[in-house]
Amino acid sequence: MISTLIYRSRLTSSFDPSKLSELVCVSQTRNAALGISGILLFDGSHFLQVLEGPLDNVNQLYEKINNDPRHDSVVELMRDYAPKRHFQTHGMSLFDLRTGNPRTILRSVITAGALNFRLASDARVYKFIKSFMRGRWRDVNPRQSEAASWEFITDNLTFSQPQAMVFADQPCQFAIQPIVEPLRGQISSFEALIRSPTGGSPHDYFASIPAGKIHEADLLSKEYAFALAKKIGIGSNKLSINLLPMSLVKIPDAVNILLDQITRNGLVPEQVIVEVTEDEVISSYDAFAFAIMQLRSAGIGLAIDDFGAGFAGLSLLTKFQPGELKIDRSIITDIHLHGPQQAILNAIIKCCTELEIDVVAEGVEKAEEWCWLEAAGIKHFQGYLFARPGLNRIPPIRWPVKIRY
Ligand code: C2E
Ligand code: MN
Ligand code: MN
Repeated sequence: MISTLIYRSRLTSSFDPSKLSELVCVSQTRNAALGISGILLFDGSHFLQVLEGPLDNVNQLYEKINNDPRHDSVVELMRDYAPKRHFQTHGMSLFDLRTGNPRTILRSVITAGALNFRLASDARVYKFIKSFMRGRWRDVNPRQSEAASWEFITDNLTFSQPQAMVFADQPCQFAIQPIVEPLRGQISSFEALIRSPTGGSPHDYFASIPAGKIHEADLLSKEYAFALAKKIGIGSNKLSINLLPMSLVKIPDAVNILLDQITRNGLVPEQVIVEVTEDEVISSYDAFAFAIMQLRSAGIGLAIDDFGAGFAGLSLLTKFQPGELKIDRSIITDIHLHGPQQAILNAIIKCCTELEIDVVAEGVEKAEEWCWLEAAGIKHFQGYLFARPGLNRIPPIRWPVKIRY
């Protein structure tokens, strides 16, 4: 079995492109020793490289390639397996798109492989090569902005900070994490995340509740989230809360209980957003549909949480369209390095733009992720890069500011 990996990268100023064939010569020996072959295309600024060989060796080489300072913006585009190599058994051919006719190059690239011409040109490997040669990927992939040109300035917001003892007798507490619009310096919403009385995770909290009481505890806990928002004085900011959809289905009169909690704490339904996860919605959609109707007719907002982590995918949006969709961390982490994640994200954005659904990227930890996502069109962000959850308080927010040289 042959493992195939394709990546694209950008030449850095530290490397002189006229040294390219020399570089390829040097890597020939190294690659041959690893049993790795392939081709390298260069268009004057970017590389596309196909590596093929034994899986472990390809991984080992790719790690080295990732740390090579002669290029940056390395994005993995494809990983696949094949019965045999697409290209010659050993070595690495270089194709400089600036010096050759693309058609001729394409033909020699394909005949460099051992397959029949028609079958060969059907393979995804060659389709990646063709679209790289046409430069079409430049239109669909936003340029990776320079994360290094931003610094983050901590803003200790002026909300009240209630005393810890106020919360001592509660069955649960809440941590608050802001969702922000960094380039406008605006807060989109505060998300209330449940904590146990000792500050433990949502898992710890729910583990201490008897199985038959989970939904009731979930719904009733929200009183403390709204009360915290009142103590802090969130004003007209939005407050996002998490609920199991079944908490709105199984507890009689659940939406009215929620509405009472909201108004009792001086909030209005229009500033509250109920987050439910993709999986929970899809597994109980018919039962939940009525609750959605009640929530919306009371003015409460809806968000799909952890989108992309479950089974439903975009087809969920054929059933109903929330005001907000939160993209799961599994798609966000290292998005700047990963072509398939980028493609999925672009599809989600396209779909949500057409449906006027706000998109939030969750779990953003790195400036590179944020820059890529901004360039792709996302405006709302949640993650440690901007703010960690604050127990019983609004934590400081780190706003990005462009460095002036
Ligand atoms: P969630 O609603 O997706 O909340 C975001 C989770 O990601 C939070 O974990 C938050 O602390 C964490 N997080 C935020 N930014 C980052 C980041 O940059 N990196 C990483 N690694 N993590 C980040 P938490 O508080 O442990 O909550 C876990 C889940 O528990 C929540 O995921 C939510 O689904 C559920 N949950 C929280 N509160 C409640 C609640 O009151 N009721 C119900 N039913 N579920 C809740
Ligand atoms: Mn959530
Ligand atoms: Mn989530």
